[in-house]
Amino acid sequence: MAGSNGNSAPFLISGGGLGGLVAAHALALKGFPVHLFEQAAEFGEVGAGIQLGPNIFRALEKVGLKEAVLADAHLPPAQEMRNALTGDLVTNMPLGQKFIDRFGGQPYAVTHRADIHSTYLKACEANKLITLETSRRVESYEDHGDGVSVTLNNGETVKGRALIACDGMWSKVRERIVGDGKPRVSGHIAYRGVLKREDVPEDLWRPDVVLWAGPRTHFVHYPLRRGELYNLVAVFHSDHYEEGWDAEGSKELLWKHFDGQVSQVTRMLERINTWKMWVLCDREPVKNWTQGNVALLGDAAHPMLQYLAQGAGMATEDAVELAERVAAHPNDLPAAFKAYQQARYLRTARVQIMARVYGEFYHARGVTAELRDMAVGGRSEEQALDGIAWLYGGS
Ligand SMILES: Cc1cc2nc3c(=O)[nH]c(=O)nc-3n(C[C@H](O)[C@H](O)[C@H](O)COP(=O)(O)OP(=O)(O)OC[C@H]3O[C@@H](n4cnc5c(N)ncnc54)[C@H](O)[C@@H]3O)c2cc1C
Repeated sequence: MAGSNGNSAPFLISGGGLGGLVAAHALALKGFPVHLFEQAAEFGEVGAGIQLGPNIFRALEKVGLKEAVLADAHLPPAQEMRNALTGDLVTNMPLGQKFIDRFGGQPYAVTHRADIHSTYLKACEANKLITLETSRRVESYEDHGDGVSVTLNNGETVKGRALIACDGMWSKVRERIVGDGKPRVSGHIAYRGVLKREDVPEDLWRPDVVLWAGPRTHFVHYPLRRGELYNLVAVFHSDHYEEGWDAEGSKELLWKHFDGQVSQVTRMLERINTWKMWVLCDREPVKNWTQGNVALLGDAAHPMLQYLAQGAGMATEDAVELAERVAAHPNDLPAAFKAYQQARYLRTARVQIMARVYGEFYHARGVTAELRDMAVGGRSEEQALDGIAWLYGGS
């Protein structure tokens, strides 16, 4: 077996978010032992929804997790974009059988972050090759050439074959490998809230992913957890920031941006009492994600804005690719990591860049917004599918 070729030291993983867990699972499936450290006291994800394109399911199928992820998910019949000032339909892309066939049998789904995270976690817990530890922060690491060691917050030093840094946007390992300072604050803020199905007014409930494009704003809603919950995300431009992910968002600030939009938007926004706020950041794409026996993965390697709904998709694709490259070069991990980086950096860079473009496009004002509505609304279904094939069709 690939993992038992004379080296029983584990792969060390820092970070038990979606990227870290799926990397642990993918490596263990190839027969490699893994020791994962998560700094939080418990494994978990924030209470919000996540969209999953066909490309993530292509990756999940390779590691046997597609059906488990789909079991909790909702399959929206369509993705729809509407103008938030007029209510007019801009475009509607059906996500039914034609869409699934176009992308090699893979669907588009939406799910609760906690659900997909717990599916990844259960897969790791069920594999004896994986050791999971919480309340363990990787403080520093050394690459000794024939292996690595990490020092944890409790002072312990742990040895391994290699370190996979899945420690997110603010990765400390990235600081050493790439050294590009703090993430770029985009000037956009996301407010998110989740409603129970019964709290959504009947005439506003839609099974689709609906995006309301407004001037310097957009608002997205869709059902979660087999339709039992409803996810709302309101995004707007602001120079008002608080560091961190889970701060409470001020309602006054929200209304300053959404006042005057159509009643389908404002009535839905009124349903949320407490918004959670996300300050949206990304980084410039780079291609040096690896150094010797250390590799970056997911947001640590290529943090992106959420406008293409692909950060977790890219992390999952990374994990599958990394495990395949490691299995192909089990005795030369620096070469395996370089091959992984080579296979991934242009695809993820394209998503990083295009996510920014989509953000501008959703938030367009005046004539630019008119032009957007005309250009997007004028496409046939085939043209719309062709336009996104680079993303949904790849892996
Ligand atoms: C508003 C918003 C909407 C989004 N919507 C979508 C979507 O619809 N679809 C999609 O695919 N993506 C979406 N994303 C992106 C997606 O959430 C991220 O890209 C993805 O969660 C990144 O996973 P990760 O594991 O790389 O990093 P993270 O989720 O950040 O996980 C990093 C983990 O590492 C831990 N950690 C950090 N430092 C250390 C350390 N030193 N030692 C040990 N542990 C450490 C952290 O506690 C954390 O658990 C969205 C993002 C935002 C902000």
